[in-house]
Amino acid sequence: MKLKNKRIVIKLGTSTLAHSTGRLNIRNVTEICRIISDLKNAGNEIIMVSSGAIGMGVGKLNLNKKPDDIPTKQAAAAIGQCELMYVYDKLFGEYSHTVAQLLITGDDLNNEERYGNFKNTVNRLLELSVIPIINENDTIGTDEIVIGDNDTLAAIAATSLDADLLVILSDIEGLYTADPRKDKNAKQIKVIEEITPEIEAIAGTKGTALGTGGMQKKIAAAKIATAAGCDMIIANGRKPKLLYDLADGKQIGSIFLAKKEQ
Ligand code: GLU
Repeated sequence: MKLKNKRIVIKLGTSTLAHSTGRLNIRNVTEICRIISDLKNAGNEIIMVSSGAIGMGVGKLNLNKKPDDIPTKQAAAAIGQCELMYVYDKLFGEYSHTVAQLLITGDDLNNEERYGNFKNTVNRLLELSVIPIINENDTIGTDEIVIGDNDTLAAIAATSLDADLLVILSDIEGLYTADPRKDKNAKQIKVIEEITPEIEAIAGTKGTALGTGGMQKKIAAAKIATAAGCDMIIANGRKPKLLYDLADGKQIGSIFLAKKEQ
């Protein structure tokens, strides 16, 4: 079945957007924006959740690693977020699509009025045929108010906006029985019907050097999404053409199936 008239949330991780230097992965991002434009042209509504602000700030500032201190991290996010939106505006603009930036914190999600405003704005943007691009507002986040990672943010966005599908693009093909970077016998699990304690146990903890995610966060996101009736896919963001396979109705990466209503 082809993807048509669906509401899809696509989350891009830092490892998909940037090289390990923090500089933009031009080939990857160009390809992804082109295919997402096509998914939109085919009649789907697209909402993006994009990481990469801190990573790209690191690249722009020529720092040799992600900073440890909060002010420099937040400064890097402020710089990188501009770069990120500039790139999206430029690439989607080539296909006549308009983008919009939404930066939120955990505090906003806990506040009924602000959460309501967030949803209303995204829904209105979709009616206006715009691509909303969401990130955490890293420049003002502190421990008390952060959501913390964009896998969780993407799952919250997908469920609160009644998306049909959440696609998490990462630096891995999907969920494996063990860490494939360390264990060559690791096998990919293509369909996850239920998130059992065994599934949770095989998810490691570590994200990449510039991002914050990791498989554990993705499983947590899958729990939120599937409980609310939304399928979630983890796929390799370094292979953008997978999005075309998805559009053609093929199975890609690892899919966590939405819980059926009882
Ligand atoms: N909000 C962070 C950024 O844009 C990324 C968080 C994450 O990777 O989960 O750099």
